[in-house]
Formats: sequence, C-alpha cells, structure tokens
Amino acid sequence: MDSINSLIKSFSKFPSIGPRQAAKFVSYLLKNKMLLDEFIKNFENLKIKATICNQCFMNFDKENNNLCPICSDKKRIQNQICVVEENEDIQVIEKTKIFNGLYHVLGGTINPIKKISSTDLTIEMLIKRIKNLQKENIKNIEIIIATNPTSEGELTRLYLEKELEPFNIKITHLGRGISTGSTLEYIDENTLINAFKNRV
Ligand SMILES: [Zn+2]
Repeated sequence: MDSINSLIKSFSKFPSIGPRQAAKFVSYLLKNKMLLDEFIKNFENLKIKATICNQCFMNFDKENNNLCPICSDKKRIQNQICVVEENEDIQVIEKTKIFNGLYHVLGGTINPIKKISSTDLTIEMLIKRIKNLQKENIKNIEIIIATNPTSEGELTRLYLEKELEPFNIKITHLGRGISTGSTLEYIDENTLINAFKNRV
C-alpha cells in the first residue's frame, strides 16, 4: 500500500471518521507541510509523555507518576467520585470549580446501535474502586453520575445505578436545568454549577 492510502486507512480507524473524510485529512496534510511537521512532533510527544491514569482513566502527561494530578492530590475530597463519559468532561467541570472530589472516566456510553456494551467501558474498575474505598472503611461515599442527558447517557446512568445499588452508597446525578439531548461541553457554566448543587 502506498503512503497516502496507508495514512487514509489509519485515519479511518478513528471513531466516526469515514474513508472520504480520512482522505481529506491526508490531502490537507500534503498541502500543509508545516501542519504535518506539527503532527509528527505531537504524535512523538504523545507517545513519550502521555498516559492514562491507573485509577480514574484520565489522560495526562505522566512525569514518573502512574496517577493523574487529580488522583494524586490528597487535598481533594476522597469519598466523592464524579463519573463522566469522556476526558473532555473533566475539563468542563474543573473550569466551574464546583467539584473538589475525584473523577472516573467511563470512556463512552452504552450504545446498542454502535455495539458498545457495559464491558467496553471502565465500569468494572469503578466497582473495584468503590470496593477498595469500603475496605479502607471510608464513610459517606458518594458517586455522582454526570453522564450527558442524551439517550445513551441516560441508559448508561440507569445501568450504573442498578449496578451500584448493592453497595449501599449515595448515588446521585446532576439536577434539572440541563436540557435533554445536550452535552456537558455545551452547557454554560452557571447551569452546570446549579446542576451540581441541585444533584439528586
Ligand atoms: Zn486519576
């Protein structure tokens, strides 16, 4: 396979990128050699520096640490875990400064159409975290489910609520005010702050 088709094939492996779009990326990179250099440098750095947190699955630049800066910060509330779909949701919530606990990145949502099931997400690892907290005798554990109010987000939330029920801990989700179908990244800061404050 020639270099062009090989890269098209690579781009096509990204979720929701088809071959046509992948081909457009390749053409664009060939026309913009500076951008191509930037990509090469960023890919190299990503490979060397970045990793996924062992505990919460957030992406971060490692610097000799297996835990991300949030999980390693002992000043953060250790018995509150906010469950989000993707990494980007953490940045959105952190910007509001409303939450000072820990996170757990699911890595997506349950989606029967796209054949994404609960086992493709980090739910088992979340359960392990809760078990460990209980083993350490940590009291008043709260799991805040902050999945998006889309149908897949809601499906995932309901599944989580059912799975976490036997642990006898407080399980909440973001309050009303977030319109159905929208995602956290498009919600204005005040609405998100209120949704946290009014969690149920
Ligand atoms: Zn972490």
